[in-house]
Amino acid sequence: MTIDPSDIKRICRDNGLRLTAPRKIIVETLLEATDHPDAVELHRRVTTISPRIALSTVYRTLVALSEKGVLEKHNFGNGPARFETVDREHHDHLIDVVSGNVIEFRSGEIERLQEEIARQHGYEIVSHKLEIYVRPAKRRRSKISAARHRRQSAK
Ligand SMILES: [Zn+2]
Repeated sequence: MTIDPSDIKRICRDNGLRLTAPRKIIVETLLEATDHPDAVELHRRVTTISPRIALSTVYRTLVALSEKGVLEKHNFGNGPARFETVDREHHDHLIDVVSGNVIEFRSGEIERLQEEIARQHGYEIVSHKLEIYVRPAKRRRSKISAARHRRQSAK
């Protein structure tokens, strides 16, 4: 499903949700986001546009639109639910457990492997969700600094 900001009105109408001004701002803000914000962060952003929108309105809108399939709700680890619109191509997520950053990626090889595994078990994939929890890799010492280290240790 692809959602364009101009589709918001139609989606809400089709789903019997009145497109109130706050709802419109909430969805538009989420359409612009690329970082899968949680409700509190989204609320912070919408109140820069419309200071009177309540956090409870943001919560209710997110829940209603997730139920209608307009938004995808993610529960990454133990953190609060985070949201993204379903307007983008399928992708998987790397979740940085240190910073909470979410990185999107897509691997044709992983997609193919998953299909193969499902097929081997006599199934076809309906959908899948891949979340990989990561932390920044320890940087490997460059050759130069490794050589310097050896010299210093030899002294
Ligand atoms: Zn995503």
